[in-house]
Amino acid sequence: MADDMQINPQRAKQLAENLASITSRINAANKASKQIRLIAVSKLKPATDILALHQQPQPLHHHFGENYVQELLEKSKLLPRSIRWHFIGGLQSNKCKQLAEQIPNLWCVSSVDTEKKCNQLEAGRKALIEKDATVEPLRVMVQVNTSGEEAKSGVEPGDALALAKYVVEKCPHLRFTGLMTIGAIARSKATTAETENEDFVSLRNVRDQVAEGLGWEKEKVELSMGMSADFEGAIALGSDEVRVGSDIFGERPAKKDAVVVEKG
Ligand SMILES: *Cc1c(COP(=O)(O)O)cnc(C)c1O
Repeated sequence: MADDMQINPQRAKQLAENLASITSRINAANKASKQIRLIAVSKLKPATDILALHQQPQPLHHHFGENYVQELLEKSKLLPRSIRWHFIGGLQSNKCKQLAEQIPNLWCVSSVDTEKKCNQLEAGRKALIEKDATVEPLRVMVQVNTSGEEAKSGVEPGDALALAKYVVEKCPHLRFTGLMTIGAIARSKATTAETENEDFVSLRNVRDQVAEGLGWEKEKVELSMGMSADFEGAIALGSDEVRVGSDIFGERPAKKDAVVVEKG
């Protein structure tokens, strides 16, 4: 468990500095002074890196993002329940139920793009809440393929409202909270605080349609957009949540070389 994990003090200091630097860049970009959530994307990084930023009694950070179900299951068992996990990766229907059922502190799944996945997440969270009434409904975001790339997951922009409605109307143990996009890498690399990334403009337009279709205030439908290369540009276009990995934790190892628990 977390108690016997050795945190390297130098690594912890470096990570805390990186986190502080990202936080101040977010604050500088946040001209409208709204609440912006930072997800520290820890995929393929060891559990000790997460614990270094989430040490009791006063954790520096709560929201962490992961991309792989097995890796998240393993990390969630080792690390404190006070962490708020976000699943942000490509999602397979047959993994959804265990994800929602086995991780009580899974706070949000950001990459939902089919009714089938909603049904599986719903079934998992329902089963968990029946066992433990203190567990909250699972937040979900609908992932939108704003760049139209074949290989990207996500619903077409025109299909986002229908899926959002499905969650709201048919999934009582899920809570629809917003829309997520990754966007095209090339556009991401070309993004600056001044240039408007088309993917972010597109997600904002989808948000306006979804809010109108649900009869909700726009502000109730969050936008999750922006990663290390482009989070300042995303904030300029109204992002509520940025997902930053490599600028906090450094370059990631190849998946085959990644370890959850490092050997001492
Ligand atoms: C890996 C990943 C990120 C973080 O990317 P960085 O460029 O390392 O900041 C953000 N969002 C998603 C969906 C990811 O898969």
